[in-house]
Order: sequence, then C-alpha cells, then structure tokens
Amino acid sequence: MIDLRSDTVTRPNAQMRELMAKAEVGDDVFGDDPSVNRLQGYAAELLGFEAALFAPSGTMTNLIALMSHCQRGDEAILGQNWHTYKWEAGGMAVLGSIQPQPLPHQADGSIALADIAGAIKPDDPHFARTRLIVIENTTGGQVLPVAYMQQVQRLAKQHGLACHIDGARIFNAATALAAQDGADVYQKARELTAGYDSVSICLSKGLGAPVGSLLLGSTSFIQKAIRIRKMLGGGMRQAGILAAAGLFALEHQVRRLADDHQHAALLQQGLMAQAEAFGLSDVFQPAPVQSNILFCDLAPEFAAFYQQQLQQQGILCTGGRYQASQGPRVRLRFVTHLDISAAQIQQVLLASENALRAWCLTQQ
Ligand SMILES: *Cc1c(COP(=O)(O)O)cnc(C)c1O
Repeated sequence: MIDLRSDTVTRPNAQMRELMAKAEVGDDVFGDDPSVNRLQGYAAELLGFEAALFAPSGTMTNLIALMSHCQRGDEAILGQNWHTYKWEAGGMAVLGSIQPQPLPHQADGSIALADIAGAIKPDDPHFARTRLIVIENTTGGQVLPVAYMQQVQRLAKQHGLACHIDGARIFNAATALAAQDGADVYQKARELTAGYDSVSICLSKGLGAPVGSLLLGSTSFIQKAIRIRKMLGGGMRQAGILAAAGLFALEHQVRRLADDHQHAALLQQGLMAQAEAFGLSDVFQPAPVQSNILFCDLAPEFAAFYQQQLQQQGILCTGGRYQASQGPRVRLRFVTHLDISAAQIQQVLLASENALRAWCLTQQ
C-alpha cells in the first residue's frame, strides 16, 4: 500500500517508539511531566518564543489560540479556505463565539494585504470588534514568503490587532524557502514567525509524531491558553509518552522534509509528462507543487476511473469534487511524507501510466 492521502498517516519509527517507551512522565495538568516540559521549552526556544503548550491536535491549538486572543463577539480575519475557517467544524463560532471574517485568496494562496486592511472594522456599535488576523502557512501546500508574513504582522501591529499563524506545516514552508536561498530551515522558521503573537505547529504530520501539536506565544498568552486547553478537555496526564515522540520529531525529522518536497516534485514532473505524452492535458492537470502536497485537477468522468485504477494498484490519494470556471472538476491530492520512498514514487508513476493507457483504450 502506498498511502498518499495525507502526511498524517506517518507512523512512529523504532527509534521514536523506544524514546516513547522510556519517557519520564508525570501529571501534565499539574505541570509535572518532565518530557512535556522539555518539549515545550525546546519548541519555544527553537522559534524564539517565550513559552509553548502541548495539546492533542492542531484543531485544538488553533481553537485555543483563537479563544485566547478573542473574547465573545470579537472578530478574526482569515482566508476562506483556511483550516481555521473551513476545516475545524466551525469551532471558533460554536465554541468561541468568535465571528469569522473570511477573505478570498490570491493565486499564490495568500490573502491580499488590501483586503485584510479593508476588512478591519472601525470602532462602531454596528460591527464586531476586529481583534485578530490569522495566516496559514503552508496553505494548500503553497508557501507564503517571509516578506508577506512580515507585512501582515506589521499591518496587524499598526491596527493594534493580534496575529496568529496556523503553522501546521510551518516547517514545510521553511524547508521550501530554505531550499531557495540555502538558509537553515530552523532559521527560516524563525523568520517566518517573527513578530507573531502565536503559532500553532503540528507534530503529527510530516514530522512523524503519532499525536500532538504545539502552541507558541508569550508567557502571559500561554497562561491564558492553559486554562482554555483545560476547558476544551485537552489537559492530558502522563502525556510525556507523546511529548517524547514530538521532541524526537522536532530534533530529527525536520531536515528530512526536503526529501518529501523532492518526491512531490518528481511525482508532479512525471505526471505532467504523462498527461502530455498521452494527449490528456485537457482532462488531467497536475498543478505546480511547492512543498509536499500535489493537487491534480481531473475531469469527473476520468477521475473516477483513474482513482480506481490507482487504488487497484495499491495507491491511495484523496479526491474532492468542486466547481471550476470550466465546469465540474475533481481535485485529487497526493501528499508525500516520511513513509514514502523515492522508489515508491516511481511505482506511483508506473501505476499512473498504466491507468492512462487503460483510459485511452476505453476511449477508442
Ligand atoms: C492538519 C491541519 C491542522 C490541524 O489538524 P489536526 O488534524 O487537528 O491536528 C490545522 N491547520 C492546517 C492547515 C492543517 O493542515
């Protein structure tokens, strides 16, 4: 089985499991778990924040951040495709009584500075109080550059707003940017997050830990966040077993994200070449890839056939139907990760070639 549905499918390796088994633990709700404390301290220091908080999921660290920054009736500005708005079951509204102000995206995945500035409400009783700007990076696999991140952060400061990064895959963004100018990946991550009030990071995606996310911020912000984590049921007890995995992931599985990006690029180039070689560029369109996520837009009749052909050859990806300007499309998503090798990418390309050949036969 070659599972490209998500980088969340990664499993802890032998070394990680050994560290988990040996982890020193205590009751983390009392603040007594040495492994959790070590992970939180390490992560905060790594990105230059005062404090950090370990929680069960990225959905929860985002919600904790939103609820720590915003009171009931406050407003958060975010992108309409972002996880915090679209993929968290409306938690900010349901549980936080926070009004989302979603904004449309530009082609590069960002939301325009002018749109953000235009959405900030004046102090007027008709309006919710704008309180927070949320930025997601990477977003749909797209990498937002340091200059943009810093412009948003300064805009927030100018208006007295807080700013939060949903950095579930911030190390993928840092990896892609570091590859462009030869900088260190951790240094890039610090540049991307500098000046932000909070950052949420997933340990359980490409970094390969089984469970867990981190929220970074100031000491006083994390104090508030601890109460909200408790309120949401995210206070864990002997969580050091999980934190040990997270620490290993942060220390040893960040630099290897570059391999995942290379694999995604290989896959993209191979699929593009196949689409052209088989004359199928109108029904099979791999999008450019910047990190570890590759999207391919397919005509619906072809998509069902193609995905089934891949599945029969042991390859899994996800697919969602949507309405494009040229008509309905299915967008397949392939995510590379630490359990996918270069050899497996070649297997996927072979399987895809078989599928395209079979499709062409059905069209004769
Ligand atoms: C995965 C993800 C999250 C959090 O997901 P969990 O599954 O709750 O850990 C948040 N934001 C983005 C952009 C993500 O991709």
